[in-house]
Order: sequence, then C-alpha cells, then structure tokens
Amino acid sequence: MRSRVAVVGAGLAGLVVADGLMRLGHLVDLFEGSPRFGGLVSGADLADTRVDRFYHVVLPTDTEIMSLARDLNLGVRYTSIRTGAAHEGGLESVSTAGDLARLSLLSPIERARLAVLTTRCRAGSSNDELDRTRVLPWLRRWVGAGAVNRFWEPLLRARFGALVDDLPAQWLYQRTRRTALARRRGAEVHGAIDGGYETLVERLAARLLIHGGTIRLSCPVESVAPGTPASLYAQGERFDYDVIVITTPEPTVNRMLSREPLNGVPDRSLGVVCLRMALRKPLSPYYAVNVIDPVAKITGVIDAGHVVDPDDQLGHSVTYVPKYVDSRDPLLLGPDEHIEAELMAGLQRVFPHFDPTSEIIDSRVGRASFVEAVRHVDYAPAAPPLRDSALPGIITVTGTQLWPQIPSGNATVQLARMAVAQVGRQLLAAPPRRSGDYRSHPDDQPAITAETAPRALGLGQLF
Ligand SMILES: Cc1cc2nc3c(=O)[nH]c(=O)nc-3n(C[C@H](O)[C@H](O)[C@H](O)COP(=O)(O)OP(=O)(O)OC[C@H]3O[C@@H](n4cnc5c(N)ncnc54)[C@H](O)[C@@H]3O)c2cc1C
Repeated sequence: MRSRVAVVGAGLAGLVVADGLMRLGHLVDLFEGSPRFGGLVSGADLADTRVDRFYHVVLPTDTEIMSLARDLNLGVRYTSIRTGAAHEGGLESVSTAGDLARLSLLSPIERARLAVLTTRCRAGSSNDELDRTRVLPWLRRWVGAGAVNRFWEPLLRARFGALVDDLPAQWLYQRTRRTALARRRGAEVHGAIDGGYETLVERLAARLLIHGGTIRLSCPVESVAPGTPASLYAQGERFDYDVIVITTPEPTVNRMLSREPLNGVPDRSLGVVCLRMALRKPLSPYYAVNVIDPVAKITGVIDAGHVVDPDDQLGHSVTYVPKYVDSRDPLLLGPDEHIEAELMAGLQRVFPHFDPTSEIIDSRVGRASFVEAVRHVDYAPAAPPLRDSALPGIITVTGTQLWPQIPSGNATVQLARMAVAQVGRQLLAAPPRRSGDYRSHPDDQPAITAETAPRALGLGQLF
C-alpha cells in the first residue's frame, strides 16, 4: 500500500523532501503558507524580469546542489569574483591572501595572525570546544584585541547584533572553512544556477505534480498532532497522514507542535530586510562588500551582476543591500518605504558618489522573519534528531539540525535527502495499516495538481 505523506513548507527543504518521497512511490501533499513556493530561494519581480528574491550563489564545494541541478537538467555557471571590505577609511579588497597581507585596518602582526587562523580553519581541526567558546574572546586570542575591535567585532555585529556576544566560535570557524575550501588557485569562485534558484524550485514542483503529488499554496498549517495517523490542521480542516514532515523554521515547528523550545534553548533567530535594485552598472568591482562601519547599519552590498548570467538580467546589474536583524526587530514589520530609506542611507554612506536618481532602474524591498537560527554558547546541545520517538508520525527538518554547518542551500539539500532516506526506511519497516477514519484529500480543499498547475502556478511550459 502506498503511504500518505504530508510535507509542511515548500522551501528548498520541503520541495526536495516531497520530490524524494514521491519518487520512492508515496502519495505526497505539500502545504505552503505563502502564495509561492521556494521560501528563501524563491524568485521575485524586478524591472520586467525575474531575479532571486535574495542573492544566492553556489560554491564549487556545493556537491549536493550541483547534483540536484544536474538531475533537473540545469547547469551552474562559475565565475571568479572578488570580495571587498568597506570601512571608514574606504573600500579595500579582501579577496586573496595578498589582499589580506595589505589590509590597512590590520597591523603586519595582526595580518600574519589572521593568516594562521585561516589556515587552521581550512585544515579542518574543529572540535566540540568551539561550540562552548564565545567567538569574540576566541578571536582575541588568535588575532589580538586591536584586530577584533577594528575588524571582526563590527563585521560580526553587522550580522548578529547583540546576539554575537553569545555566539559560539564554531560559527566563524565553519564559515571561514566553507569560504577557504571554495577557492580555486587562490581565487574566490562563485556559481549561479541557469535561470536562478527559481527555475530549480519550479522544476522540482513540476516533477512532483507530474508524478501525482499535490501542492497547496496559501495554506498555512496551524497545528500538527503526532500519532497513528498523524494529523495536521489547516484552514479549519483536519488532514491525516502516515507521516508528516515539517520543514519550516524551528520557532514555527514549536508553535505547530505546541511545545517549548528543545532543551530549553531560547529562540534566537535572525531575520533579514533586503533592498534589491536593477542598476545601470555595478557599484563596484566586488561581488560582496562586507560593511565594517557601524554607522552604515547595513550588513553588506551584493553586486550579483558579477555572477548572474547577463542574459538573465536584461542588461541591468542586480544589486542587493541586506541588513540582518533579530527576528523580533520591529523593522521587519515596517513599511517598505521606511526600510528602503534606511538601507539606502547605509548604501550611500559606503558609496558616497552613488546617485539613486540616475542609477536605479527599479528597486523593491524583500523581507523574511526567520532566516537563521543562532546558537548560544551556553545552550549548545547536539543538533535535534530528525525523528523524535516521542512524536510518532512526525519528522522535523529545520536549520537548527544543520549545526555545525552554517545554513546554505547545499546543507539544506543534504539534510532533506537524509530525511527522505529516514522516512523511506521507516515506512518500509512499518507499512501503513489504515483504518477507515483517515481524512485526507477532502474534496472541498482545492489542491494544485498536474491538471490545474499551468493556470495556478504559471508552470505551463514545464508540462
Ligand atoms: C539573504 C540570504 C542569502 C542567502 N544566500 C545564500 C547563498 O548564497 N548560498 C546558499 O547556499 N544559501 C544561501 N542562503 C541560505 C538558503 O537560502 C537557505 O539555507 C535555504 O533556502 C533554507 O531552505 P528551507 O527550506 O530550510 O527554509 P525556507 O526557505 O525558510 O522554507 C520554509 C518554508 O516554510 C513555509 N512555512 C512557514 N510556516 C509555515 C506554515 N505554518 N505552514 C506551511 N508553510 C509554512 C515558508 O513560507 C517557507 O516557504 C541565503 C539566505 C538568505 C536569507
């Protein structure tokens, strides 16, 4: 008998789980709270074209993403890029070992100590102690207090705000390692998926529908009850399943299951507000400019035009100005105009000669409340399991389980594939014995199927 499976959340994780379970022969219903699928990797409008809602690149070490793209007949186009650092003294390159050896913010001894730290991270000698060590004191030991005050602390505060004070050193270690391993002959190399991540998630959704799965958009799941069957409640209806896989951010999972945060870990998450612009030309020679200037109040400036295929940009240069904030920051709920004004002020501090009136063709504001769960040194439990034996019929796939890896599309796909294997084994070992009281696919709940998809999702060209 084919098992009935629900997947909650149609971001990258949810789509990969739904696709994998459908290909194992199960009946899959995908529930998404927002009107579109893709979550953080979804596309968005800009100047008569479609671009990533948030900037996304693939690194040469992202083997899971590359195999997924290949499987969906999509290529990844790689380009050498450069990274800059903006500080009160100007804009400098931090792309190569040579650049770092000249960085004016650091003294010669600090630069040498930084090189030793980078080499250590690249070598991969991580240990659990890094989970229990605060990142700023750890950095002071490695590169000295002056380098932390002038370089690292403003850089990390621009992303984590006050949460940096309890951030484990493991985060920076893993982040530095991911970037260092992605270098090719000393140069940074970034890739973009043909047609952007949006094309990748559209193809996953189309494949799910073609094989008989269903997708319910604008259908937020309100609560989930473990059991045999496990039930979910959405739009006032109950739906029963052999297994429910929840792929939403951790705070939403806790709310759906009416449970306290696991192991008493306080909810610490980052959200992001992000200005995306079509510009007449790139702002700088850098793909990413890290902002080391607390007055600017932005996390960075991303000139995606250096990575994205020019054909996908209609001759514009697509630039993003992100600002990471605590997920409870009121800015996330503010009007677009207010967010745009704040991010534009930061951008003009970094690029004082930038003239918005003549350079901007189109600009839009994007926001997301939960983009990264932030670890706390004093609450550093092992990553929660995908399957909790106290929750029969429920599997959770969330960013907190990626630790010590930092969140990325690649790590997300890897975790989602592990969940597919686990659910597959579970259903093979205990196939469903269904009684008559299952309530799935109520007729009055419109679901998108292969027949209705061309109109509902605009996916006609894929069928
Ligand atoms: C600004 C930014 C830049 C990034 N850049 C990169 C990059 O360059 N390279 C890279 O590899 N990674 C990057 N990432 C990380 C990457 O986007 C994420 O790791 C990945 O998309 C996470 O996917 P997910 O499915 O786990 O989560 P999400 O994308 O958050 O998906 C969760 C889904 O659940 C839905 N949902 C929530 N609540 C409910 C509910 N109650 N009922 C139903 N559905 C619900 C949401 O609407 C969403 O669609 C970036 C992230 C951000 C924010």
